[in-house]
Amino acid sequence: QTYGVNELRKMFLDFFESKEHLIHKSYSLVPHNDKSLLLINSGMAPLKPYFTGQEIPPKRRMATCQKCIRTGDIENVGKTARHGTFFEMLGNFSFGDYFKREAIHWSWEFLTEVVGLDPNRLYPSVYVDDDEAFEIWNKEIGIPAKRIFKFGKEDNFWEHGSGPCGPCSEIYYDRGEKYGCGRPDCTVGCECDRYMEVWNNVFTQFDNDGHGNYSELEQKNIDTGMGLERLASAVQDVDSIFDIDTMKALRDHVCRLAGVIYKKDEKSDISIRVITDHIRSVTFMISDGIMPSNEGRGYVLRRLLRRACRHGRILGIDGKFLSGLCETVIGGSKDGYPELEEKRDFILNVISKEEDQFNKTIDQGLGILAEMEGEMKEKGETVLSGDHAFKLYDTYGFPLDLTKEILEEKGISVDEEGFQKAMQVQRETARAARGVTNYMGADVTVYESIDPSVTSIFVGYETLIHTSKV
Ligand code: ATP
Ligand code: MG
Ligand code: MG
Ligand code: MG
Repeated sequence: QTYGVNELRKMFLDFFESKEHLIHKSYSLVPHNDKSLLLINSGMAPLKPYFTGQEIPPKRRMATCQKCIRTGDIENVGKTARHGTFFEMLGNFSFGDYFKREAIHWSWEFLTEVVGLDPNRLYPSVYVDDDEAFEIWNKEIGIPAKRIFKFGKEDNFWEHGSGPCGPCSEIYYDRGEKYGCGRPDCTVGCECDRYMEVWNNVFTQFDNDGHGNYSELEQKNIDTGMGLERLASAVQDVDSIFDIDTMKALRDHVCRLAGVIYKKDEKSDISIRVITDHIRSVTFMISDGIMPSNEGRGYVLRRLLRRACRHGRILGIDGKFLSGLCETVIGGSKDGYPELEEKRDFILNVISKEEDQFNKTIDQGLGILAEMEGEMKEKGETVLSGDHAFKLYDTYGFPLDLTKEILEEKGISVDEEGFQKAMQVQRETARAARGVTNYMGADVTVYESIDPSVTSIFVGYETLIHTSKV
């Protein structure tokens, strides 16, 4: 028996509702009252005030399916079977209510009985000193000791500076030998795609005073996270998260546009997967009100969009294609996220405009970059100067990491420090030219970032000279 992504999401939430959890819809990707985070990256992140006790939760047991963005994983996207910059995280949470025993039992019950994964392919890991979790897995669930992996602080202890922290227990799924790296020591914990981490159970039981002294918390919490796409790839027994029902529809759409067949050429496959992933990220980000810009979240969005555009070029897709793909994202995910359907026109519009802007200069930029490469080759240089990288950014809208990525494949690096310096010089020149920092009592940058007539195509406020306007 197999289940679709939208079914699995519901099965998870129904399961935890039956265990008396309050089901809450996904919070926005934009953090609320949290300056420590640019984008929500876990189910726990928007619930932080309940964990720290700053706010009283509506119920001491909650479960969500949370939209997450992890741009830190961008290098992995397209290359591993299991990483996206966007994914959905299923999670059950206890704020001073149940603890390890229930969390472990329920995770096992859900995986083996509700969705029916083969127990012989599941492997738990525990923190090396967490005898309590080990005993529960071993004695109560009945997993032989040799199948339970003990890992150290690096892997199985959740901690961010001082404050609440604790050991975790992760559940891995053996996807089969054919996905292994073939090394003799390949086992749970190996970076390859055979043993896939599916679910992380964090047991927040200590308080770190900031000097490495741990005391037991009075209120112990449970925070768990399971990637919905990874769960689906195990349940559907497919090669990667890009082969599960919803993602496959999108991937097939990319292939149709490009006129290429998946699994013919590894290099095109990477581009196909990158586009498949990035279009999901940008669709969800825009639906949560994030707009392309040259800083913060807006810049993350812009980078992802432009990266998707460039991979479209690599595949030979002509002209605009992103908003069409965006419709497939909406179609596949509106079940779980009705806001996608409600904001459809708005989302398509934003994507379409941004794509137009980049399309205007991308070919020119790629041409200029090829010239720069040619010159460097003649001189035997392997580092692109900061000024050149800045020119590509400033005039052709190439985010620095896009330039880096294009050159990386050719063994060329970029003088990033030089790039930052060029940016700084430009900023100071702009500031000096403006002469004033304040326009009708407001920070001038506010106007520049919202008024499209002031902000030119690729150039953010920090690089513009507006002597006439101000
Ligand atoms: P990995 O080691 O595979 O990068 P992680 O340890 O960084 O995963 P956690 O922070 O423990 O992940 O997040 C909880 C769960 O969320 C993971 O067990 C996994 O199922 C899922 N997950 C994490 N990162 C991603 C990603 N980039 N794409 C898809 N799912 C993810
Ligand atoms: Mg990770
Ligand atoms: Mg991990
Ligand atoms: Mg983990």
